[in-house]
Amino acid sequence: MRRTLIAGNWKMNTDHASAVALAEEVAARAAEVTNADLLVCPPSIYLESVGKALAGSPVALGAQNMYAEAKGAFTGEISPAMLTDIGAECVILGHSERRAIMGETDAQVNKKTFAALEAGLVPIVCVGEQLEQREAGKTQAVIAEQFEGSLADVTAEQVIHLVIAYEPVWAIGTGKVATPEQAEEVHADLRKLLTERYNAETAEKVRILYGGSVKPGNASELLSQPNIDGALVGGASLQADDFLGIGSAAKTD
Ligand code: PEP
Repeated sequence: MRRTLIAGNWKMNTDHASAVALAEEVAARAAEVTNADLLVCPPSIYLESVGKALAGSPVALGAQNMYAEAKGAFTGEISPAMLTDIGAECVILGHSERRAIMGETDAQVNKKTFAALEAGLVPIVCVGEQLEQREAGKTQAVIAEQFEGSLADVTAEQVIHLVIAYEPVWAIGTGKVATPEQAEEVHADLRKLLTERYNAETAEKVRILYGGSVKPGNASELLSQPNIDGALVGGASLQADDFLGIGSAAKTD
């Protein structure tokens, strides 16, 4: 059975004091969530302070992005080893905002995925269709293409160490949540892609998160779907009550 993971993507929000305060509250109240692992991904500049605030709690620390190279002349970038050095265990890769705003491609996400795995980080690899693609009936094809491109050449031994996040772009930060049926359909497709490429046993081990306007009020229906193994939460992860409320909605193992 896959243990539910609730990951908070703070994006480019908070300041130093509020990031630490939020982390302290989540850490102090983490015991409210019994059926899920918790992860917070603050802005990179606050990783160290948030890590200190989480110390001794079961809440894991993650980054929102990284560069694929180990070191060198890459002004402004952060390496995988810098993330592990600061205590990060996970890294979000290929978030739709990075794909859309920074022009990140499947090939770049693929390179970062290998670099993260090599460094011992758990990559959370994001895929998701845009509204026009869904309306044109292309969701399945878009997801398959992103899956193949972002996870190209990843072995069965490696894939069980990563997490996939399905985030329909039209549901991110819009308040429009995919119905549990819409989300489950894509999650089941992703599980099928994993089964076809690897095998059923391997596919069963990979956690697939849903992201897109998850709130305490819609979380339990989404998380009760058989192939939804957690949530990647943006806006609602900025309030401890909401984030922990989503965690509390997790199904039992
Ligand atoms: C996200 O940023 O990954 C996300 C799902 O955002 P929101 O929960 O705000 O839709």
